[in-house]
Parts: sequence; structure tokens; C-alpha cells
Amino acid sequence: MSYKVKIEVLEKNESNLRIIVKDADVPLMNALRRIALAEVPSMAVDEVVMIENSSILQDEIVAHRLGLTPLKTDLETYNLPEDCDCQSEFGCPQCRVTLTLDAESKEGTRTVYSGELISENPEIVPISDKIPLLKLAKGQKVKLEAYARLGKGKNHAKWQPTVVCAYKYFPKIEVLSEKCENCTKCADICPKKVFIIKDEKVNVQNLLACNLCMDCVDACPTEPKGIKVEWEKNAFIMNIESAGGLPPERILQEATKILEKQLKEFEEQLKVE
Ligand SMILES: [Zn+2]
Repeated sequence: MSYKVKIEVLEKNESNLRIIVKDADVPLMNALRRIALAEVPSMAVDEVVMIENSSILQDEIVAHRLGLTPLKTDLETYNLPEDCDCQSEFGCPQCRVTLTLDAESKEGTRTVYSGELISENPEIVPISDKIPLLKLAKGQKVKLEAYARLGKGKNHAKWQPTVVCAYKYFPKIEVLSEKCENCTKCADICPKKVFIIKDEKVNVQNLLACNLCMDCVDACPTEPKGIKVEWEKNAFIMNIESAGGLPPERILQEATKILEKQLKEFEEQLKVE
């Protein structure tokens, strides 16, 4: 059996990708979804050496916040620590990026933002300068070195490259004109505003918004129902929103590469056994 998957892009920008996938099936969609979430590497702070911290936050909390600050990711230049030739606990320039923070409040209380982190590689920086890290009162200081590494979401959520990675079945809605009494109760109850009333008749206006909740079918007072909601067995709407480190289409491309590699390894092992 061969897959002939067809993809149609609904929406694509820096952070979000929404596609229709046709002629695929649940195992394939779910494999890609799970790999995108848990196996595609991204960059995150993994270790912090605190040199000075007189803020009210404990060292661990500051380190945790740095870990959850999304960083731009470069999969070409950097290796996963476990795959790096150095095999060193501390890492080398191919598997580690050092960021430093030296912040102080000379007068009044102020917020320290992610933009104050100085990276040894100007390509590996927080995705925004405006992420609040901590607050300093007058006279307080924080000075630290943070080490960012590539990692996988299955080991810690800070390495998840996506904030949303989900798919749903492609909906199929039919208003059965011979049974529908045009009470418009289905249109009123729909939380996704899928329907529009035109000439006192219910029409489907925004099919892709449907999440198959079936509220419209339940609300229909006629028996048998005047509306039919189903889904296509082999068509899906997939939505990937990046955390900002990698473009969403790149995350999906990496997921397919990883799936291919895993299948190849499986095949090799089968031959050996
Ligand atoms: Zn290394």
C-alpha cells in the first residue's frame, strides 16, 4: 500500500501553520503529531551557574524561568549532546551555547527582561526581548551564566518546539432540506459559528471551524434530524503553532525525517534478527 497524501495550506505565517491533509490515516497523523511534540529538538537553557543572586527569587526559580524562555533554534550548527563527538558532560561549541546575564537595579524596582541575556552566538537568543525574567528592588543584583542545549520534548516540556500541535477530522455537514424546518436552533447553538441564516434558511458558512461537537444535531427538534454531521475518514485539518524557535513547517519536516529514520532503523533490526 502506498500513501498519496495531498496537502493544502490554509494558513501559514511565522508561527502558525494550518493544513488540510487528504488521503492520510490516523496512525500517520498521530505519529507525526507525537514526533513533532516530543522528538523534534529545540534549544533551551539546561544549566545555570549562579554567580550572584540577591533578588527575592531562589536560584532554582530563576533557572526554571530561563529554561522556559523560548530560544531561537539552529539545527544545522548544533548537535544533540548525546550525538555530539565531544561526549563531554559540559559540552563543546557544537552542542552548547552560553548566555550571560548581569543585571542590577541602581534605583527603584525594575523588571529584568529576556533582552538582557547576552548570547555568545547572536543567532541563539530568546525569541522575544520582552519576556520578563525577574524583578529587582533597589540594590539587588543577579549575575549568572546559562548553558543552552538542544533537547527533546519527551525529556522536558521546555524543549517542545510547538505550543499547539493537533489535528481533527475533516467535517462533513449536510442540512437536509426536506426534513429541516428552518427553526435555526442549530445555528444559534453552534459555538464555532459554522452556520449562517440566508433567506430564513440554514447554510453552512464556515465548515472548517466545525469541531464535531454535535450540539447542532442535539438542538435540532425534528425527528429524524434535519441536519447531518459526519467526518471524512481520510482527511484531517492539522494545526501547528511554533513556540518561536523553529518555523512550523520546519518542525513538520523534521518530524517526517525522524519518522523515516526510525522506520529505517526498525527495518535494519528486522534484517539482523
Ligand atoms: Zn559537543
